[in-house]
Amino acid sequence: MRKYESSMLRNVALVSHGGAGKTTLAEAMLHVSGAINRRGTVEEGNTVSDHDPEETRRGISINASVIPCEWDDYKINVLDTPGYFDFVGEVLAPLHVVDGAVVVVCAASGCEVGTEKVWAYCDQFEKPRIVFVNKMDRENANFAEVVSQLRDRFGQQVTPISLPIGSAEQFSGYVDLVQMKAYVAEDGGELKETDIPADMTDEVEEARATMVEAIAATDDELTMKFLEDEPLTEEELISGLRAGVKSGELIPLLCGSATKEIGIGHLFEIIKDCLPSPLEGKAPAAVKVSDGSEAELEIDPSGAPVLQVFKTMADPYVGKMSIFRVISGVVKSDSVLHNANQNRDERLGQIFVLRGKEHLPVDEVYAGDIAGVAKLQVTTTGDTLCSRDKAVRLSFVEFPKPKISMAAEPKAKGDEEKIGAGFTRLAEEDPTFTVEKSPVSAELLISGLGDLHLEVMLSRLSRKFGVSAITKEPRVPYKETVRSKVTAEYRHRKQSGGRGQYGHVIIEVEPLPVGSGFEFVDKIFGGAVPKQYIPAVEKGIRETMAEGVLAGYEVVDCRVTLLDGSYHEVDSSEMAFKLAASMAFRKAFMDANPVLLEPIYSIDVIVPEEYMGDVIGDLNKKRGRILGMDPENGLQRIRAQAPLAELFRYAIDLRSMTQGRGDFTMEFDHYEEVPAPITQQVIEAAKQEQDS
Ligand code: GDP
Repeated sequence: MRKYESSMLRNVALVSHGGAGKTTLAEAMLHVSGAINRRGTVEEGNTVSDHDPEETRRGISINASVIPCEWDDYKINVLDTPGYFDFVGEVLAPLHVVDGAVVVVCAASGCEVGTEKVWAYCDQFEKPRIVFVNKMDRENANFAEVVSQLRDRFGQQVTPISLPIGSAEQFSGYVDLVQMKAYVAEDGGELKETDIPADMTDEVEEARATMVEAIAATDDELTMKFLEDEPLTEEELISGLRAGVKSGELIPLLCGSATKEIGIGHLFEIIKDCLPSPLEGKAPAAVKVSDGSEAELEIDPSGAPVLQVFKTMADPYVGKMSIFRVISGVVKSDSVLHNANQNRDERLGQIFVLRGKEHLPVDEVYAGDIAGVAKLQVTTTGDTLCSRDKAVRLSFVEFPKPKISMAAEPKAKGDEEKIGAGFTRLAEEDPTFTVEKSPVSAELLISGLGDLHLEVMLSRLSRKFGVSAITKEPRVPYKETVRSKVTAEYRHRKQSGGRGQYGHVIIEVEPLPVGSGFEFVDKIFGGAVPKQYIPAVEKGIRETMAEGVLAGYEVVDCRVTLLDGSYHEVDSSEMAFKLAASMAFRKAFMDANPVLLEPIYSIDVIVPEEYMGDVIGDLNKKRGRILGMDPENGLQRIRAQAPLAELFRYAIDLRSMTQGRGDFTMEFDHYEEVPAPITQQVIEAAKQEQDS
């Protein structure tokens, strides 16, 4: 592939609700621009973008992929992103590095939840955008309806600049409202320029007038011309569109069909003409490494090299592959750059331009371009590599925290370490996936954004690392404590020939305030229990507390006082006193009104107003307590507390209740007593586990 100067580059992300046709569109773009001879399909699992076996098997995009297309002396880096919420990390990082987005909308389903979400992300990242109404050839395609939906939902700046010719089976081409020309596919083949169909004249005139007025409104000079009824030239319309798209005042809307390859060339033209080049785009916020002050980073092709890694993948052939965007300067193969995040130098080997799984070696890449390099030593996703003497750190994306956790176990005994290591490698690739040893239950917890996300991680683990794991709900880290003060006595005596065993203690067990842990008090006078055995008494109690008495969970928040006891000159031993103390503690504990405590989490749910009732009802069912509700940016924030035991699948429940519109965060707050009927269930479950 040839080299492209910064002004001849465009970086654009395809974003949409899952299934709107991004992957098919990316494939059509490659085909129409001549990069591939034969177009793959999602159904056959042979598209350039979805080359990961997990994607071909499921027929959905999971990873963002880079698809460079060469069009009319320009290189357009198309970043195909996944549409499912579980893989939103792969939407955010690409959006961070592109200069514009194409929001793909299905002409039959219109504006969907995923469309709203990606729109909000484009707003958040302040990305200029274009809308592509895809699948005009599909049954029930309704262009006018989709346009009016989008304008209602996102504002009148959404402006059609093309109109479909025909719809569904009859869809055959489009009218370009800027050029005022029609393009029709002849017998399903190449698009040919033709006259605007006579029966569309009125519709075209009206749409063109709306478009011209919208474009004219973005510029004083054009407004004057428009008010004086002077016609605007094609160049003026394009430059007006360009300015309007950049400022966000205009969002051009085009139509077409990815499978029929109609409207693809038009989309290329609009990306090329209307989306900012890297030189006009905004560099991410940056700070100087030297003093932490804000750095005004210029996007300068002749300046010092600065790049940012936005994605890391474990490639089966080349090992770790880092994908980066050059922010400024020129980055060369076989050079050394400074990693400003890790404060270490990093040697870059051969640089590649990526096209799906293909790697095309290049010796240098210019500011604005996207490329990859293998086997970086210290660099992780989000890091900035730059020259050492002008080191800056670029801001990166804040990824959502994992929403769902499962305990993972190896399928085959003995593979514990292997699955731990495999998941750790996968977590390096995916900032929305984490793996950790549970601090309370010794389980290996894997956490992600949804059940599909975790499922994909399990398949990847077995494919890439050759070990299989199964998952189950994590154990709730219950705790046990007492509610009243009792004394108990235990005498351990064994006489079975030879030396006997003798230990005897009287202890008092009483509750302590929440969070106090354990206190041991020695009140022995006159050596009823000799000094040398007292540590054994405490140890016996501590060990029993760690094991739990009621249902096998750690005992907390109590004071144990050793009041009295007795010993035997010959038969007493540390062992005997430890045992006696342990038994006395068990007895006392069971008499002291024992209870289970469970972790209560604070949970913050954000949902559109119409789901409030369902969400609150569901939280009540989950033994939740609503603490408050506040309106926020047109949505409602519900603050609540609920037991962790009820929340493991909350991500899935909330999604189905709100069709994916709701979001939440949760964090541990405190421990609270478990209601009696549930305590019984937990005790039963613990017994069964012990017996099995
Ligand atoms: P993505 O999830 O947005 O990447 O969507 P895909 O590209 O995977 O497409 C989802 C489904 O829609 C697949 O079955 C495609 O064949 C189909 N599809 C995509 N584009 C078109 C189109 O223009 N017309 C029709 N009829 N189907 C399409």
